[in-house]
Amino acid sequence: MLDLESLFNLSYGMCIISSKKDGEYNGCIVNTVFQIVPEPLTLAVSVNKENLTHKYITESKVFTVSILAEDTPISFIGRFGFRSGRDIDKFEQVNFRIGQSGVPVVLDNTVGFIEAEIIKIIDVGTHTLFIGRIMACETIDDSKVPMTYNYYRDVKHGRTPRTAATYIEKKPKSELETKEMKKYKCNLCEYVYDPTVGDPDNDVNPGTAFEDLPDDWVCPECGASKDEFELVED
Ligand code: FE
Repeated sequence: MLDLESLFNLSYGMCIISSKKDGEYNGCIVNTVFQIVPEPLTLAVSVNKENLTHKYITESKVFTVSILAEDTPISFIGRFGFRSGRDIDKFEQVNFRIGQSGVPVVLDNTVGFIEAEIIKIIDVGTHTLFIGRIMACETIDDSKVPMTYNYYRDVKHGRTPRTAATYIEKKPKSELETKEMKKYKCNLCEYVYDPTVGDPDNDVNPGTAFEDLPDDWVCPECGASKDEFELVED
């Protein structure tokens, strides 16, 4: 049998992987970084070919891994995980420093970082496995705890982008939907606004219709504007 849910028992850490191209920077969320050899220090990361960061890594042959802390806000993860660097500059309003690879290391919500240069590229269909030699690694804040993928899913109720290595397509639970409620879904991250719940974290009371949300209201998961939402059909 293939019990896909059982795959969530594997443990992963949440990271931002960043790279550069022609003076521009981009980064995305991955949960597939692992050290594979201790001597010489070598690690691997799996990245979806659709991601702009994939293109940057392929061309520059260098990348950085910023290891995210448990208390990272979900909107920060949304910025790197659900928005595309083709639409926004992900490093705008983010504290970072340029490492010796020339690639940014994220300083906000980061426990530590690793810099690596590619020594091998393995094509794995939809994804590429980049094998990198570690050039530098450092702890930025040892008071912080690294965020595991399980913590992100279970405690932060984080969602998984379609392009993630661990994405599993789920069918909507129709029994949870009732005809009276008009729910709207974010096209970028699949967050569903439910008017019976509202958005209490952003002072939107239960019973607030989507149409009555302020114009500057944004998706609490990924920061997308209201016009990225569409009606969820019953
Ligand atoms: Fe969203």
